[in-house]
Amino acid sequence: MSLLALKVDVDTWRGTREGVPRLVELLRRHQAGATFLFSLGPDHTGRAIRRVFRKGFLQKVSRTSVVEHYGIRSLLYGTLLPGPDIGRREAALMRSVRDAGFEVGIHTWDHIRWQDFVAHKDAAWTRVEMERAAHRFRDIFGVAAATHGAAGWQMNADAYALEAELGFRYASDTRGREPFVPVDAGGREFGVPQLPTTLPTLDELIGLDGVDAENVHERLLSMTREAPSGGHVYTLHAELEGMKLLGVLDRLLTGWRAQGYRLVAVNELFAGLDVTRLPRCHVEMGELAGRSGLLALQGAAR
Ligand SMILES: [Zn+2]
Repeated sequence: MSLLALKVDVDTWRGTREGVPRLVELLRRHQAGATFLFSLGPDHTGRAIRRVFRKGFLQKVSRTSVVEHYGIRSLLYGTLLPGPDIGRREAALMRSVRDAGFEVGIHTWDHIRWQDFVAHKDAAWTRVEMERAAHRFRDIFGVAAATHGAAGWQMNADAYALEAELGFRYASDTRGREPFVPVDAGGREFGVPQLPTTLPTLDELIGLDGVDAENVHERLLSMTREAPSGGHVYTLHAELEGMKLLGVLDRLLTGWRAQGYRLVAVNELFAGLDVTRLPRCHVEMGELAGRSGLLALQGAAR
């Protein structure tokens, strides 16, 4: 049976409190597994205001209505209001997700900081951010995290290497075609196996080519008619599918099950792979339709 793994990125305090419980309820109703990746430190969503000055961002804001999905309060955290510490406040809620049978992992320490800066930061900066998240994860769950999914698909070479050092078994930091092992320009393996997101996110589709919240599930389901041998990874957001777009996810889960997929956590997809036989691929930063800026992408196979 073909597998479709659900990866839930949780970006904000509000998404954690309001989106995550609704997603848990919906996923259980569909008997779907999923991997919840938490933002474990301060919510500095308001600092995203910096991005207004970046090319392409305003276009995207007007398409997806950031205020509608994230809420006015979230947009003030880190600017007019201090950023709440999500992991400290919501540790019990995060543990309840694990106790409900879902895989849990690290999204980031400070989403906005990582997303806006990591691509151009050095090893020392990257280590501080990743270790903060890893320590907090251990505080909350009592064990080391086994997986990491980078905020905003933003990475640098040191971050990949640190994933191996910190003991992650696999990661989903990239966008791509199928699971792979990252290799550097010289062909040397580094980091941990990557299970990239293979499908577009809702906010990348809505607002383009006549796609809206009512029909976006049809567009996605048309992309999953053929099941790839390596399975699919779909990334959803607690702030989108967990809130205003919960109905879209409901239709997607029904559709994917009708197409014959088993809906699983990412670690279940990983468990079925023979890592020694995965393609060895470069990673690179590049553009993706519907999203502004550069993202970590699966590059060519070696
Ligand atoms: Zn995120």
